[in-house]
Amino acid sequence: MLKKLYTPKSGNYNFLMAYPAIEEFALSSLGYLWLYKIADTTEGVNAERISTDNINIKKSVQDIGAIAFSMSFDFDFAGVFEIFDKLKIPYYSSQRDESFPLIFAGGPVLTTNPEPYKAFFDFMMIGDGEESFRQVLEILKNNDKQRALELLSEVEGVYVPDKPVKKATVSLNDVIYTPILSEKSYFKDTFIIEVARGCMNRCAFCTASYTNLPFRHNDFNKIIEAIDFGLKHTNKIALLGAQISAHPQFNDIMQYIREKIESGEEIELGISSLRTDSVTPEMVQTLVLGGQKHSTIAIEAASERLRKFINKNLKEDQILNAVKVARENGLKGLKIYSMIGIPTETEDDIKEFLRLAKRIKDENKGFNIEFSFSTFVPKPQTPLQWSKREDTKSLEAKQKFLEKELRKLGVSSKFSSAKWDFWQTVLSRGDESLSPFLVEVYKKGGKIGAYKSALKELNIDISKFIDGFDIEEPLPWDIIENYPRKQLLLNEYKRLLRR
Ligand code: SF4
Repeated sequence: MLKKLYTPKSGNYNFLMAYPAIEEFALSSLGYLWLYKIADTTEGVNAERISTDNINIKKSVQDIGAIAFSMSFDFDFAGVFEIFDKLKIPYYSSQRDESFPLIFAGGPVLTTNPEPYKAFFDFMMIGDGEESFRQVLEILKNNDKQRALELLSEVEGVYVPDKPVKKATVSLNDVIYTPILSEKSYFKDTFIIEVARGCMNRCAFCTASYTNLPFRHNDFNKIIEAIDFGLKHTNKIALLGAQISAHPQFNDIMQYIREKIESGEEIELGISSLRTDSVTPEMVQTLVLGGQKHSTIAIEAASERLRKFINKNLKEDQILNAVKVARENGLKGLKIYSMIGIPTETEDDIKEFLRLAKRIKDENKGFNIEFSFSTFVPKPQTPLQWSKREDTKSLEAKQKFLEKELRKLGVSSKFSSAKWDFWQTVLSRGDESLSPFLVEVYKKGGKIGAYKSALKELNIDISKFIDGFDIEEPLPWDIIENYPRKQLLLNEYKRLLRR
């Protein structure tokens, strides 16, 4: 069952909101659903949703005015091509004539670096979408394609290749929440509420922080109103934000939910992760009352020195305290997330990590601890955007060593694939030379072997996306003009290297 928590409108302008993955994920994506709600409540627009496993449109493609894609993950391009194929749409915008809809995209992938994708879309949305999207819809429904593109290039946050673009930044006047509840969603029937956007911490690798500057939070009363509204429709509430506990009234929000639970309301509460340096007994108790059994903390790097290097100034005692508070206040287990391969990492850093893991294990007997590691992927628009990515073989050797040593300690561990993280680095720091490569990878089935064989076939040079960039040379994503300014990132990069 699917329940729209708003009254849709209709009209003559046919518009598709496409999600480049399966319906289950589409229905769990807050940004995608919120923009769909905007389209579905815009006068004169007939909006439909599609995803890779759900394309039952009643119109022919030639009757559609525009199609919008939401891209949250670097590998989403394969889902975009799959939908293009199913709708018989040519991949390249230059191969689509007037009879095809305008096709555009937005989301974190493009906000970070749109260049590898610009050959496929007529335009892209950079930054926060909720305000510019309304302007985009007004322009689309009232103009022909050519005139629409001219007008769109004037809208802040809209990138019509190759005109420089300013990223859109909103002031969070409206609280964003799940506008469509569904048991088919990955987060079944869950009403997700955005509490804050961005993060003040500015860890040197983090796009969630740097591409969402400045940190903003929603008005307390509006969050409470949203919680009450959500609880009329479901008992599952989740609070979202990269740094929700930085909301100045976060404790009051938690207290509000706690009082409701204690007065007999059956509420299931979820928050994505706990902030290691500010986990409190009350916070954990409220989560446990709300049915949460496990949670996650992120320590990001192996040693105190490395954490300082990346700006995650987290001390060993703070980590031990967070685990203790989680255990003593009713959680059954904790996932501890970290990275390997951060620039300047040495054997000593890894050894320090093992020492910490042993302390955590010894001091928390019977508590379920799992370590989860990804490998460092240098991301655009962060101070580490210029850095070299560590060699895959060397990362895999570190993974093996850690797995073996953690097993000896009786601690379970999980590792991301260093090979896939390698390709993620290529995609996220790539430029327009990647476009034919992406098409070829998709045609060859999209597995790791497809990347290797497409590379061989097309003979393109990806070394610069792995080895990093010189600070003097232009970067593919320089086309995005405003915050975070390159100079700010460069100053920070130099400061970190001096540490
Ligand atoms: S604390 Fe987390 S969300 Fe904030 S900057 Fe660091 S990694 Fe990003």
